[in-house]
Parts: sequence; structure tokens; C-alpha cells
Amino acid sequence: MADNRSPQARSYNMSRIRSTNTKPEEVVRKYLFAKGFRYRKNDRRYLGKPDIVLPKHRTMVFVHGCFWHYHENCPHFVMPKSNVEFWQSKLEGNRNRDKKNIQKLRAAKWRVIVVWECELKGITGEARLESLINEILNP
Ligand SMILES: [Zn+2]
Repeated sequence: MADNRSPQARSYNMSRIRSTNTKPEEVVRKYLFAKGFRYRKNDRRYLGKPDIVLPKHRTMVFVHGCFWHYHENCPHFVMPKSNVEFWQSKLEGNRNRDKKNIQKLRAAKWRVIVVWECELKGITGEARLESLINEILNP
């Protein structure tokens, strides 16, 4: 897709997007931190670089964006209208990789919790965060 805006206009837009929309993984981290949990971020030692690793609870939390992780039956997921074949195979590849990573981590006795971006939106977002804490504390 052609982008005719000047580099300045582009970077202005990007910085606005970043500052106005907190990333979903940041929302979850801030919540857990406020509740007293301590974690490691994007730990490269583990498959899939989990967004949040809670060693004390032997738990990992992946916060998945609905597009890149191809959230099935998600109202927020929209397949791009062009290059459909490319996107289909790319996103299916991402989804399969996620599944394999999670299986392997579970086999290594980690509890793996996936929080979807869409679950954090709207009025049910807070409830999802509360249930996440339950999942961490009461396996
Ligand atoms: Zn979703």
C-alpha cells in the first residue's frame, strides 16, 4: 500500500498511536504489578518469549493480539481483503507455532495462560483480569 505522507507525519501518527493506546500486555502487567505480582518480561529463554513469566507461580502469561495470533471466532479478527492467501498462511503459521510452543511449555511443567486482546476490552476487561489472578493463585 502506498504511503504518501511525509516521514514526519508518519512518525507523528505512530507516536500518537503508541501514547494513546496502551498495549494489551502492558495493561496486564500493570494490573498484576499493582496486585503485588512480580514477573519477568519477554523472557527470551523460553519458547515464544512469554509476555509475563511468574517464576514463583511457575506460570507464564501470553497476551495475544487477536490479529497476529489469529484468534478463532473472534469478532475483532478481520482477514485482510488483499493478499488473502499470503495472510491466511502467515497467520495459520503463527497460530500453529503458538500451539506447539504452549504444548512444549506445558510439557515442561509450566502453567500457561493465554489472555486475548479482545478479552481486555470493554466492561468485561476488568473481570478478565480478576479471573487471571484466580487462575494464577488457584490452579
Ligand atoms: Zn479476540
